[in-house]
Amino acid sequence: MTQQAQVMVVTPHPDDAEFGVAGSVARWVREGKSVIYVVCTSGDKGTSDPNMKPDELARIREQEQLAVAKLLRVRDVIFLRYPDQALEDTPEFRKDIVRQIRKYRPETVVTADPYRRYVWHRDHRITGQVTLDAVFPYARDHLAYPDLLKEGLHPHKVKEILLWGTEQPNYRSDITDTFDIKIAALRCHKSQVGDNLSPDFEEWLRQRAKTMAEVENFELAEAFYRVKIWW
Ligand SMILES: [Zn+2]
Repeated sequence: MTQQAQVMVVTPHPDDAEFGVAGSVARWVREGKSVIYVVCTSGDKGTSDPNMKPDELARIREQEQLAVAKLLRVRDVIFLRYPDQALEDTPEFRKDIVRQIRKYRPETVVTADPYRRYVWHRDHRITGQVTLDAVFPYARDHLAYPDLLKEGLHPHKVKEILLWGTEQPNYRSDITDTFDIKIAALRCHKSQVGDNLSPDFEEWLRQRAKTMAEVENFELAEAFYRVKIWW
């Protein structure tokens, strides 16, 4: 069964997409686009609380991600539930992403830039790389995964990839009118940002969004490396 969505966001952990693309997601939804999230791990190692158990943390973080989805009006959230800090570039993981691409048939896929250098979470690097590979060539080619064809999941050509966390942005998305929703979305991740997002942190995010928009005629931006795919 296919259920077309214009935008698919592939996030390594709950909260990465909110830092990277939540302002743009809010704007796309306002414009009538359908957005879905694929969450690769449930972030079961993302805590400094010595008493927190991984299973409990994963449950909490999935609930936080669902609260974000409700706020942003993301249509569907798919949890792949790979272990946090243990993502690998495996045939299984790649196939899982291909399955979602073929099911939702997005025009745009958004994920983490795998080519950011030095200090970059390994799960982010691997999610970005595996997602790029899944888009091209695996989702496109009918001889890849004949068993998916039998499930009714036919090849699909994604038109555009947006990579957040890039060192070389070539595309800036206007989030001037949706920056406040991005902040509200980040606040949903209480296990990560605490009960209250600090004013300093919010101001830092605003300044960052301003810097990203410096070359544009709008005030606040999220920045990406954009790959247009011409089929
Ligand atoms: Zn992350």
